[in-house]
Amino acid sequence: MHATYCIIGAGPAGIGAGWGLSRLGEDDFLILEREARIGGRAAGEKDAAGFTWEPEPRALCGRHKTFARLVDDLLGADAPQVPREAWVRAGGAWVPQPFQRNLRYLPAQQRLECLRGLLGAALARGQAAPEPDNLAQWLERAYGPGIARLYLAPQTAKRRGAPPEDLDWRWAPGRFVPADLDALLETLVLERDDTDHGPDATVRTPAFGGTVELLRRMAKRLRERILIGQDVVRVDPLARVVHLRGGQTVGYAHLLSTMPLDRLVGAVLDAPPEPVLRAGATLRHTSALAVGVGVRGGRQGTAHWMEFPQDNCPFHRVTHLHNLAPGRVPEPGARALLAEVAWCGPRPAPVEAMVQDVLAGLENVSLLPGGPRAEVAALWHAERPWAAPLPDLARDAALRTILPYLEAQGIFSRGLMGGWRHEAGDLDQCVMQGIEWARRVVHGEPETVYPA
Ligand SMILES: Cc1cc2nc3c(=O)[nH]c(=O)nc-3n(C[C@H](O)[C@H](O)[C@H](O)COP(=O)(O)OP(=O)(O)OC[C@H]3O[C@@H](n4cnc5c(N)ncnc54)[C@H](O)[C@@H]3O)c2cc1C
Repeated sequence: MHATYCIIGAGPAGIGAGWGLSRLGEDDFLILEREARIGGRAAGEKDAAGFTWEPEPRALCGRHKTFARLVDDLLGADAPQVPREAWVRAGGAWVPQPFQRNLRYLPAQQRLECLRGLLGAALARGQAAPEPDNLAQWLERAYGPGIARLYLAPQTAKRRGAPPEDLDWRWAPGRFVPADLDALLETLVLERDDTDHGPDATVRTPAFGGTVELLRRMAKRLRERILIGQDVVRVDPLARVVHLRGGQTVGYAHLLSTMPLDRLVGAVLDAPPEPVLRAGATLRHTSALAVGVGVRGGRQGTAHWMEFPQDNCPFHRVTHLHNLAPGRVPEPGARALLAEVAWCGPRPAPVEAMVQDVLAGLENVSLLPGGPRAEVAALWHAERPWAAPLPDLARDAALRTILPYLEAQGIFSRGLMGGWRHEAGDLDQCVMQGIEWARRVVHGEPETVYPA
């Protein structure tokens, strides 16, 4: 086989790339997907009790106009747009997101600690200071020690599976919602909320079918260009040929890979130079376990998700899938809780033990007040060894070595694990990276979504 454009992976980035090419009138492309279905990690699963579980993307953000138009065209009223309702459990209180803009919900002592820290950080901002060494320092400088201690530092550590001292800070300014002292004063004095911030300030979720429904509708228009069950096991950049398990080959002029970058460089690419191999070996990632707990009845509130920075539960976030889309539960009133646990390196315990810890944690934070035995109607889990790239202190230097080498061979690596930049790795950003790759290879247009 031969295709001018070859794409590895039919997840959001790969399908976005195919979509982008077809919009530009380019038909000579193939998307190779090793699984028997499209969607990548957006694909969900319905269990025997009728709950639909999605371990990863569950709400679409509306950062990019092109993406928002795509969702309007393909999903329209099937994916209503609603203001996000998210909460943080900290200091014994529930604080609406973004935490740093809604401190009035904290008990007085913590409120004072956070405000003092924020004021100190604002006053220090005018003074010359060396660059922060790591994310922990950056968080303290941007938000003060109170907000960092109560929420941002422990939440980041739980979510990434690594302490902020081990992480770089350069990706953070665009990703964390800034604090604003003046706006904060208004919320405190006028007793107002200030929740309309961040890329997920409003969210869209297909009412039925899960987030993968968007990709299904895109893929329908790409049809025979997507080949499922095709595992790419080798890329020969000199001959510009990919080899599939089973022996077939696909020649190409341009290649987009959305498989994990460390695997592309370390196991699939023919003979990368030594510095590229070494850089690939330094890339670290977060692993994750998603645990779905189905409960019949007992539904309360309208929250979409809640974050848990404290250590009385192993998860950092619990999503109420039933409040995002009614089609994910078997009957009205049922609840679908999705808890996420993250780590970096070897799994901390056997999966079964981790699932039991999650159930105990849900009891601790009062999301299963009657206890697991009384309430659980369905229990589901999915482990994701490569959940997200870790933005550690070595990452940017490694990417500066790997990506230019690949591009010189006509290979682009994009998407969440392909691009290895979690700060540009939400579903909307991955679809846009694919679309922008197509515009770049066809018309030479610069990319804007994947950070330079
Ligand atoms: C815990 C978690 C929660 C998230 N929640 C959200 C959210 O609420 N909203 C949001 O917008 N985003 C969310 N994201 C991000 C979202 O999951 C990603 O943006 C998106 O799924 C990544 O798309 P992708 O195409 O880059 O990768 P993938 O979805 O991983 O697709 C890559 C594809 O390549 C295939 N592949 C890999 N290797 C090969 C090979 N050798 N040969 C052929 N095929 C191969 C895989 O099978 C897969 O189908 C979340 C991420 C995580 C980790």
